[in-house]
Amino acid sequence: MIIAVDGPTASGKGTIAKALAAHFGLPHLDTGLLYRAVGWQVFLDGGNPDDGGDALAACGFPDGLLADPELRTERVGGLASRVSIHNGVRQALFERQRSFATQEGGAVLDGRDIGTVIAPDAEVKLFITASTQARAERRWAEMRGRGQDVSLEDIVADLEARDRRDRSRAIAPLAPAPDAQVIDTTALDRDQAIRFTIEAVETAIRGE
Ligand code: C5P
Repeated sequence: MIIAVDGPTASGKGTIAKALAAHFGLPHLDTGLLYRAVGWQVFLDGGNPDDGGDALAACGFPDGLLADPELRTERVGGLASRVSIHNGVRQALFERQRSFATQEGGAVLDGRDIGTVIAPDAEVKLFITASTQARAERRWAEMRGRGQDVSLEDIVADLEARDRRDRSRAIAPLAPAPDAQVIDTTALDRDQAIRFTIEAVETAIRGE
């Protein structure tokens, strides 16, 4: 069984995907991390993330880079969304994601184009969303918890810029697959969102 979990930045899709993987005993891939690794590698190479050639060259990043805590920062999130507009980058990362999705026994993948491009054949497709304000507040609390001093306004501006770029790009723009179930987590806390999505997946599996 393939479970595709898509949605915008800080919608809760990563937390939900991890919880679904644990609940259903499936391996999980955070595909955003691959784009983050490319973005960070371009920076380390002294390249330009808006240049398709520089971004493609960075797709050969060493696997060890995926464990670099720097990848989780907002700065690298911005770099990731810039390199992710290049077709060459998306092609270079396709096979890795596709073979993870189609492994024996199934998998959970979260990202922006899992239900539309990577695994249009997924048995379950979820699109997790939340208001910009709710997403910004969650990100703000998370960053404050890590001791980072950031303003809520800056986070809102950052999320809006990233959403705009992800939604308007020509290739694999962020959008729910026509057969995805859209789940709005604005009014739900973490545990409620997890419980709700587990039930949604169980219902989808039963074919209701
Ligand atoms: O999900 P995360 O915030 O880690 O993703 C970082 C960036 O990588 C996104 O803003 C998006 O531009 C890009 N991305 C993508 N396709 C995916 C996953 C992430 O384009 N499947």
